[in-house]
Amino acid sequence: MYQGIAASRGIGIGSICLIVEHELKYDAVKITDIEAEKARFQKAVTRFTETTSAMAEDIRKRIGPKEAEILEGHLVMISDPTMSGEMEKMIATGQCAEASVEAVCDMFIGMFSKMDDDMMRQRASDISDIKTSLLKILLGVEDIDISKVAPGTILVARDLTPSMTSQIVRENVAGIITEIGGKTSHSAILARALEIPAVLSVPGITALVRDKDTAIVDGTEGDIYINPEGDVLTKYIRKREEFIRKQEELKHFLGKPTLTADGKKLDLFCNIGTPKDARKAIECDGEGIGLFRSEFLFMDNNHLPTEDEQFEAYKEAVEIMKGHTVIIRTLDIGGDKDIPYLHMQKEDNPFLGFRAVRYCLGNPDTYQLQLRAILRASAFGKVKIMLPLVTCVEEIRSVRKMISEIKADFDARKIAYDPAIEIGCMIETASASLIADLLAKEADFFSIGTNDLTQYTMSVDRGNANVAYLYSAFQPSVLRSIRHIIECGNAAGIPVGMCGEAAADPLMIPLLISFGLEEYSVNPVLVLTARCIISKWTKSEADALAEQVMSLSTEAEVVSALKAAAKD
Ligand code: PEP
Ligand code: MG
Repeated sequence: MYQGIAASRGIGIGSICLIVEHELKYDAVKITDIEAEKARFQKAVTRFTETTSAMAEDIRKRIGPKEAEILEGHLVMISDPTMSGEMEKMIATGQCAEASVEAVCDMFIGMFSKMDDDMMRQRASDISDIKTSLLKILLGVEDIDISKVAPGTILVARDLTPSMTSQIVRENVAGIITEIGGKTSHSAILARALEIPAVLSVPGITALVRDKDTAIVDGTEGDIYINPEGDVLTKYIRKREEFIRKQEELKHFLGKPTLTADGKKLDLFCNIGTPKDARKAIECDGEGIGLFRSEFLFMDNNHLPTEDEQFEAYKEAVEIMKGHTVIIRTLDIGGDKDIPYLHMQKEDNPFLGFRAVRYCLGNPDTYQLQLRAILRASAFGKVKIMLPLVTCVEEIRSVRKMISEIKADFDARKIAYDPAIEIGCMIETASASLIADLLAKEADFFSIGTNDLTQYTMSVDRGNANVAYLYSAFQPSVLRSIRHIIECGNAAGIPVGMCGEAAADPLMIPLLISFGLEEYSVNPVLVLTARCIISKWTKSEADALAEQVMSLSTEAEVVSALKAAAKD
C-alpha cells in the first residue's frame, strides 16, 4: 500500500494509464536577433492565451465557473506585465525565450512556495503550469490526449495539468493518482468537482507502476494499492459499493432542514472565499454564509481594492444568497497571509504579530474602506460583520466606534445600509476563549474558529509538519475551550456558530450538539454530510457521549471513544 493526500473522496478501481511527460530540454543558446526572439516569445504567449481561454470555456461549460477560474487565473497571471515584462527583459539581454520563461517562472515559484499559506503555495503551482505550457509551445511538444482513455481508467501522472484535466471524460476515469499537488491544487479541485476519487502527492509513484497495472484509489483515506491481492480487491469493491450507497443516502438530505434526531433545528452555513463561491453554497444547499474570508479579495488583486470594488464583491455574494445570512469577516491578513502591495513589516513571530483586527485598527483608512463597503452591501440582504483574531474587549469597542461614525456619515449623505447590522467576533485565541463571558456582552454573535483556536491553545503552528501531531481540535484543552465558549455565548443569549474545519467533522458533531452549538459553517461540499451526521444524534445521546469523552485525558483516548460511538 502507498499513501498520499486524500484529495477527492470515494473509491476508484481500475486499470492504470501512465502519463509519461516529455522532458522539456533545450539548448540555452545566446540570441543575436533579439527582436525575432521576442516575436517568437510573443507568438507562444498568444498561443498559450488562445488555448487556455478555449480550455477555460470548455471547463466552464462541462464542470462549472469555479473550476474554470483556475485557468482564468493563469490568463490573468500571464497578462500581468510584471511576468511577461520580466521575460522580455531577459530576452533583451540575449537569453533565449525558453531560458527566460524558465528563469522568471522559477523566481516567482521560489517566492510563492516559501509562503505558509495554501493559497499562496497554489500560486507557485499555477506558475509552474504556465511555465510547462509555455515551454511545450516553444519546443513544439504536444500534450497526451487523455480524452480517449477506456472506461475504468486510473490516471497516474507526476501532476495533472489543467489541459490534461480538461480532457477528462468523467465516465471513463475511475481514479487519479499524482506525485505532486496538495488539497487545494487544481488537480484536487477539479477531481472533487468531477467527483473522481484522487490521491495526490504519492512520492515516486510514476516510477513504481506500469501501464495496465490494476490499482485501487481510496480518495477518502489517501491509500492506494497496485496489483492488490484478491482479498484486498474484494474488500475495496465492497467499500466502493458502500461509498456509493452513502452518497445516494446523502441526496435525501438535499432541500431538507438541518434537524437533530430529536427534531431540533440547527443552521448549516458555508465558508466561502470569493463572491462566486456563494453559488456553490446555494448548489450544495447551504443555508447561509457563516464565513466569507474577505482577505481573498485583497490577495487576488495587485492593488488595494477600492470601496466600490469591495462593495460590488460583497453585494454580489449577498444577492446570490437572496436574503440568507452572509457573515463577512473583515480583513484577516498577516500571519501566513501576506499582501505584497500593503508592504507589511516583516516580523519574527508573524502569527503573534500585527495581524487581522490588530492591523486593521492600526490602519484605519484601509479598514474604513472595508467597513463602508460592507455597510453599503448590507442594504441588499442580511449581512453581519465578523472580526478575526479578537483578544480583548477594546478591539470590539474600537470597531463599533468606527462603524458608528460611518453610519452617521451615511445618514448625513442618505446612503442606504442596515442600521441593525450585527457585529460579532471570531473566538479563535486562548484569550478570547478565557474572556468569552466579557466578549459576549460586547458582541452580537460568536463564531468559533477552531483552526486558529487549536493553534493558539496548543501553541502549535498550524502549518508546521514537525508539530502536526499536537494539532488537533480533539485535544482535551481545545474541547474544554470550545465547550466554555458555547456556554458563555448561550448564557448571554447571543448566537454561537463554528466556522473552523471541526464544524464538519463527523466525530466532533455530536460533541457540538451536546455543548449547545446551533450554527455550523462548513465547506460547501460537506453540507450534506454534516446534515446527515446531525440527523443521527439526539441531544440526550450526544450528552451521554460528551460526558464520557470530556472526562478523558488524552487526544488519542478522545478520538478512539468518538470513533467507537460514531454512527455510520
Ligand atoms: C479558523 O481559524 O478556524 C478560521 C475559520 O479562520 P482561518 O482558517 O481563515 O484562519
Ligand atoms: Mg482563523
